[in-house]
Amino acid sequence: MDYQNRAGSKFGGGGVASQSASNADRRERLRKLALETIDLDKDPYFFKNHVGSFECRLCLTVHQNDGSYLAHTQGRKHQTNLARRAAKDAAFGKAREGDAQFTGANAVQVRKNTVKIGRPGYKITKTKDPLTRQQGLTFQLQYPEISPGVVPRVRFMSAYEQKIEDPPDKAFQYLLVAAEPYETCGFKVQARDVDRREEKFWSWWDVDSREFWVQVTFKTDREERYSGVPGLGGGGGRGR
Ligand SMILES: [Zn+2]
Repeated sequence: MDYQNRAGSKFGGGGVASQSASNADRRERLRKLALETIDLDKDPYFFKNHVGSFECRLCLTVHQNDGSYLAHTQGRKHQTNLARRAAKDAAFGKAREGDAQFTGANAVQVRKNTVKIGRPGYKITKTKDPLTRQQGLTFQLQYPEISPGVVPRVRFMSAYEQKIEDPPDKAFQYLLVAAEPYETCGFKVQARDVDRREEKFWSWWDVDSREFWVQVTFKTDREERYSGVPGLGGGGGRGR
């Protein structure tokens, strides 16, 4: 629900009637402003649900009509979320370059059609390097219905960066794998130092079988001890 635009939600001043009238004025003004700048057909967050109301997929708000939605897009909540999303996209920027070459100028169009279709099937196998005795994990994710041209992306997220588990447990970190139109998967793994060398940490997209492989190898206890703080950003390796 969108509480932000609700009539009479502020206290003080001139009675419910005039309050809601001025809210209506304000909404109308915002709607006009928004219509000048926003094309709903190209807005990736605009969504008409099965009961005919409108949803903002960015803020998870529901609106009774397009005017109310448009007013919402000019509000602080939506603008804040847009800024947050832009920052997040920038963090993902490197991984996204691959997508850009496929989607090019149509990027917005492509994202608009993204309706999440659930999580991919996956399999995780523990590994041990026979030479170095380093422990690791192999992730195999199946994306039979991945969007054309999309290559899955992978990154680590610290316990403090994620918003799902509260309070955060610093003994863990999360391996995120994103591939539209699937939901992004987060695998909770020990917050051990990841060996970032190319042959130890790699991913591979098998276009034919539509399977995405990620190999993660942890540093040995000994290496970790010498590289300072375990987990993200701890010492050696080629970080991002
Ligand atoms: Zn919004």
